[in-house]
Amino acid sequence: MFRRSLLAALLCLSCQAVVAQKHVHGDGQLLIAQDQQQWQFQFILPAADLLGFEYVPESAEQKEKLKSIVSKIENVEEMIRLPRYCTLVSMSHSLFNLNPQSLESTHSHANKHAITAHVEQGHLREHLDIKITYIFKCKNTPDSAVATVMEWASSLHVLNAQWITNEQQGAVKLKSSSAVIRF
Ligand SMILES: [Zn+2]
Repeated sequence: MFRRSLLAALLCLSCQAVVAQKHVHGDGQLLIAQDQQQWQFQFILPAADLLGFEYVPESAEQKEKLKSIVSKIENVEEMIRLPRYCTLVSMSHSLFNLNPQSLESTHSHANKHAITAHVEQGHLREHLDIKITYIFKCKNTPDSAVATVMEWASSLHVLNAQWITNEQQGAVKLKSSSAVIRF
């Protein structure tokens, strides 16, 4: 698990980023934190840049799109590529909040209310961020990572990456032409 201080730093980092960075289409964030062998990569992306819409899918076409994007991000290689000595330990994402079927299950009853409330709040209606978190275990310290999401999410023009590792902090603006982070 992440040390408390590091977690606080990460939370603070995402706090600042959320405050500093408004929801802008084409503009995403990638927050990276290391705790010993564990490396956490959290993407915060406008739903518009993944799905093309920012609400619970209505048409059959939108439902298909949601399904295809879920299977894409569940294949970590489509989002981030690390050296081979890093293995994926876990992942989570908030796209299930948009799945009409999961909204029907009792499990996500609270979610349904949250989404409904979200949708009904006029000004929020058209904007939604998707959070995707991957945790890797790396036997050695990776010297780089490639944000492969930039290869297929064509409307995502900029990915603001920020990191806190055991040795350093840093930030870089990634683009599809230069999507490599060097730690
Ligand atoms: Zn939006």
